Amino acid sequence: MVINRRTFFYEIYAETLGGELMQKDPVCGMMVDEKKTKLTSKHDDKTFYFCSASCKTTFDKDSHRYGHA
Ligand SMILES: [Zn+2]
Ligand SMILES: [Zn+2]
Repeated sequence: MVINRRTFFYEIYAETLGGELMQKDPVCGMMVDEKKTKLTSKHDDKTFYFCSASCKTTFDKDSHRYGHA
């Protein structure tokens, strides 16, 4: 399956680059690997990454509040 192959590739890539791909979850402040999470939202042309579905839901409900941190 193509999707599984891409996921596998990204895991290798993320390991190679170490901490370069970490993004801050704007809701809880946790660092999230942007190539591993599928939980993303856009606000003001910026992409935000989330550690869990509940953080994404919180962001989506009030994205203007969290999307400028
Ligand atoms: Zn979170
Ligand atoms: Zn806004």
